[in-house]
Amino acid sequence: YAVLSAASLSNISGFFVEIMKGLGASARLFELRDQQAVIPLEGGKKKENVESEIKFENVTFAYPERDRLFSNISFQVPAGKITAVVGPSGSGKSTIASLMLRLYDPDTGRITIDGTDLKEMDPSVWRRNIGTVGQEPVLFSTSIRENIVYGAEHPEQVTEAQIVEAAKQSNSWEFLRGFPDGLDTMVGEHGSTLSGGQKQRVAIARALVTNPRILILDEATSALDATSEYLVRVALNRLLENSQQTVLIIAHRLSTIKHADQIIVIDQGTVVEKGSFDELMKIDEGVFKKLVEKQTIGWNGEA
Ligand code: ADP
Ligand code: MG
Repeated sequence: YAVLSAASLSNISGFFVEIMKGLGASARLFELRDQQAVIPLEGGKKKENVESEIKFENVTFAYPERDRLFSNISFQVPAGKITAVVGPSGSGKSTIASLMLRLYDPDTGRITIDGTDLKEMDPSVWRRNIGTVGQEPVLFSTSIRENIVYGAEHPEQVTEAQIVEAAKQSNSWEFLRGFPDGLDTMVGEHGSTLSGGQKQRVAIARALVTNPRILILDEATSALDATSEYLVRVALNRLLENSQQTVLIIAHRLSTIKHADQIIVIDQGTVVEKGSFDELMKIDEGVFKKLVEKQTIGWNGEA
């Protein structure tokens, strides 16, 4: 069977697109940074309509041949709500996203979706329910139009008007309309003709069109210039504004964190705090409070 051998999710979208490319194709081996856990791409429960409440139950996890990263972490990502994950660099925020995408399985404990162990679900079906916007989305070497509708349940039924609307909402339209071929502009190998910020905006357009049940966002925008970062931020806000989705956002901005329904703070391999912004700010000597006060959450000067 097809196997997935994946590494860290510093770049969720890239992996996701790699995975999606493999789906429906013949057996394919994805070799990312390191050789990793081998997870079959197919097989298991075909639960098509996930309600999408995700639970981590006593999860321990170590990357192969590394020290344990998570010890017994438990938390809930409620359906239809926005959950922000914060924590110091290296604390495992991206790894949480990798585990949710099932690029790895926990060593002990389990991750459930509406009560079903992720291990029992068909990974291809599961991943089709998840949209990702990461730091450096990798796009297909095809038209921007195809890239936007990719992952829609019925791509052929997506109308021109819907695509244009998503392009506008995601701030992609501004650069697309400057291209002679507009939406039919071909993206170079790995999207090399677009800047990082433009790729992110196309990924946001895709999430708007495909409307996945679950959205995993990594807000890190360190690689972007100020204008690009602003356009991505506005697009992300639009994506989140009317979202009925279950959202897990690896948050770096205070404004995002404030608007989250729930904040999960991880540090030293465990969930140290969880709650709303106001609740967490009330904890004396709290990790979150310190992160906010020391401004070690890199929120680009927003208040
Ligand atoms: P964060 O997103 O909070 O910065 P990560 O989840 O990326 O943290 O990484 C957590 C820890 O796991 C770090 O020490 C990192 O070096 C390590 N790590 C991340 N990905 C891998 C990998 N594929 N193999 C081994 N170690 C990894
Ligand atoms: Mg990270």
